[in-house]
Amino acid sequence: MQPEMKRMSVYIHIPYCVRKCAYCDFLSFPDASPDSLTQTGKEYKKALLKELELTARKYPDRIVDTVFFGGGTPSHMSAFDIADIMDALRALFPFSDDTEVSLEANPGTVDEEKLRVYKDAGINRLSFGLQSSHDKELKILGRIHVFDDFVRSLELAEMAGFKNINADLMSALPGQTVKDWEDVLRTAVSFKILKHISAYSLIIEEGTAFYERYKDGGLPSEEADREMYHVTREVLESYGYERYEISNYAKPGYECRHNLVYWNRGDYIGLGLGASSCMDEVRFTNTSDIRKYMELTDLAGIRESVEELDDDGIRFEKVMLGLRLTEGIDESELLSGAEGLTEKFYREQIEKNISLGLLVRENGRIKLTDEGLDLADHVIMDFCNRFT
Ligand code: SF4
Repeated sequence: MQPEMKRMSVYIHIPYCVRKCAYCDFLSFPDASPDSLTQTGKEYKKALLKELELTARKYPDRIVDTVFFGGGTPSHMSAFDIADIMDALRALFPFSDDTEVSLEANPGTVDEEKLRVYKDAGINRLSFGLQSSHDKELKILGRIHVFDDFVRSLELAEMAGFKNINADLMSALPGQTVKDWEDVLRTAVSFKILKHISAYSLIIEEGTAFYERYKDGGLPSEEADREMYHVTREVLESYGYERYEISNYAKPGYECRHNLVYWNRGDYIGLGLGASSCMDEVRFTNTSDIRKYMELTDLAGIRESVEELDDDGIRFEKVMLGLRLTEGIDESELLSGAEGLTEKFYREQIEKNISLGLLVRENGRIKLTDEGLDLADHVIMDFCNRFT
């Protein structure tokens, strides 16, 4: 690696799914066959490759450290298209020796051939959207797969040589009990090949089918949700998964490096519809208008928002993102450059939350305590108040 090259991560958005899940508010559309043999897939891939080429021209001094294909359902696209995107990325940017390349896959959308193509293309981490091991719950969620599809996908992935695999799980589902959730967790940990588990609570977003269905009730109570949250930690930690972020657990050495870049505020470029980036302390987001995106001729034309972060903004982001990590944040780095009222304000919030037992200071770092992790949003809001 040449010394002057700066590291960056690359996110690639594939906005197509087999069909829309009932709770989903991600930027994704149902499409029967979004590959380069269809007009839509062809146009999307063309725009993506164009954006990639323009991006490489704009950032010639970058080396790629992690890549993440997210969506949508990247595994719904042809694996050959994914391989073409990887080839283009490699041709335009140098990669670090151990670049992590993740791809989100839906159980039931991968087969032997796809996995072989992924492996040859350099993908070395798979993230399966399992959500639940109970078919009844998968049906309620509107997922396209059943649990057996996941088991089969995992077997195929193992046979193809993948060693770094995540499963996404979702708690607080309609009708779900704490015992149901515990069963989902225990089933997941029984697959030794899973080195990483992300466990999030269902959040009902306006505009989704779930919002209409459950806005007046039918979901587990707040107490049950809390209990599930605690069971998650208990079960996963007892099987050797270490919690490194509020909702993410990994066997040692298998933390998702790409997501760590987000939480540690590293540089990343987002390519594709609606993708967000943060490069050299400037945050920007691509348009979520698919027509506009596909007509891309220059980068400025697809930017929906651009925000240059000032010192205050950067400092608050360090709290908002860094406190999500169980290792917390370096206190002196957080306070460096803070003067007068800003420094006073930050010191006050830190001491207040330490005295409330929500933050703890250890080896120069401040981090959330167990209770603080439960109330992370409240702690973070304390640091936000200065700017309201
Ligand atoms: S697979 Fe994921 S992105 Fe696609 S509709 Fe379902 S939740 Fe949304």
